[in-house]
Order: sequence, then structure tokens, then C-alpha cells
Amino acid sequence: MTRHHIILLGAPGAGKSTQTRLLQSHYPLAVFATGQMLRDEVKRETALGLLADGYFKKGTLLPDEIMIAVITERLRAVPTDKGVLLDGFPRTVEQAQALDTLLHELHRPLTAVIALSLSDQDAVHRLGGRRMCEGLGDPFPVHVDDQESVRACLRLGGRIVTRPDDEPEVILERLRVYDTETQPLIGYYEQHGVLSRISAAGNPEDVHQSIVEILNNAAASEIVPPHGPERTTP
Ligand code: AMP
Repeated sequence: MTRHHIILLGAPGAGKSTQTRLLQSHYPLAVFATGQMLRDEVKRETALGLLADGYFKKGTLLPDEIMIAVITERLRAVPTDKGVLLDGFPRTVEQAQALDTLLHELHRPLTAVIALSLSDQDAVHRLGGRRMCEGLGDPFPVHVDDQESVRACLRLGGRIVTRPDDEPEVILERLRVYDTETQPLIGYYEQHGVLSRISAAGNPEDVHQSIVEILNNAAASEIVPPHGPERTTP
């Protein structure tokens, strides 16, 4: 099976973690969801977690050098037979440039950068009603409008919790940070011809199918990561 190297971009609420879960069950991928990774560190009260907690409460980004160091260490440890899916990294142009260099060094050319687009209004609605189902493996999002999923979570012994950064004033700050810091990445990858945009407004299964189509087409012609030195054959 083709080894994919995928970046998922999209504003908070666009459904990156839902799509990550769907992709993970279909492809051999090592997944790096940096937000969830940091929330786990917060729970375990590690040094990184204690630092991250302050940024979560404000809705702002951790410093680039810290996130680059974390991702570098973890990507280096991915088994060679697995692809990589990045959800939440990169989030700034500086992170993207560091990632280009790292992927080049690891001989892991990008297969696709997928931008999930969603209006601010839809993002606010999704985040405002988002709860996490915890206690059933990796936490996953449910929406208060979808009472069936909420009940299923509880019935299976899960807990429904609100992410601290899904509080209304933090949501607005996260959307602002996305517009200023992360949105430029869309242009960055577009310029290098590796970007595919899809609407995140549909249901998760339809969005997933669109991503699968992109990956099927991308598999035939792997994309050399933008930026960075000429690629040599592994
Ligand atoms: P997420 O779950 O992806 O929305 O991320 C939650 C929070 O984790 C963000 O608001 C940031 O504070 C932090 N975070 C996650 N990924 C990154 C990153 N690549 N760079 C900086 N901060 C990050």
C-alpha cells in the first residue's frame, strides 16, 4: 500500500480530528495530532503540559521552536513502513519550513496537503456545541445537537467534557489566531502546487470520500515537498 504523507489544514472546528480518525482506520499512518498530544501532556502534568496549559487558556499557539522540537523527535521515530498524518502541525510558516527540511531528510515526500474550509459562522456553531467523549480510548468529539452520539458515549461508559479552549471567548481568539498565523499556510502550499481544498461543511463521511479521492490521485505522482533542497533518491 502507498505510504502517504498528509497534512490536514483547517480552522478549529473544521473536523480535522474526525477526518484523522477516519483516515487512520483506512491507511497505515502514524498520526500526530498536536492539540491532542498537548492535552495528554497537560493531563499527565509533564513540563510540556504545564507550559501548554497557559497557551490553551488563552487560545494562542505554543512557540514554534518547542513544537518543531516535539514533532522532529516524534517523526524520526516513525517506522519506515508507515506513512504520516499531521493534524494541527504545521500552524505557522516557520513550522512549515522546518517540516519541509525534516521530511526531506527523512525521505518522506508530501503526498497531499488538504485544506478543510468552513465559514466562521459554522466554526463557531460547531465549537460552541462541541464536547469531548472521554474514557473510551482516544477522546473524540461529539456535538450537543447530536444527542444520539452523546447518549451512545455515556451508554458505553464514556464521559462528556467540554474542552477548556471551547469556551466562547477562547473560541474567538483561536479563530483569530488561525486567520493570522495559519491561514497563510494555505497560500504557502498552494504556491508550491501541493494544496487541495475541500469544503468541510458536508457530513464527515462525504468529506472523507473527497479526501480518499485526492489521495488516490496523489498516490500516482508523489509530490516533492516545497521549499528545501533538491531531493535525492532514498
Ligand atoms: P487543536 O486541538 O489542534 O485545536 O490545538 C489546541 C491548542 O494546542 C492550540 O490552540 C494551541 O495552543 C496548541 N497547538 C496545537 N498544535 C500546535 C502547533 N503546531 N503550534 C503551536 N501550538 C499548537
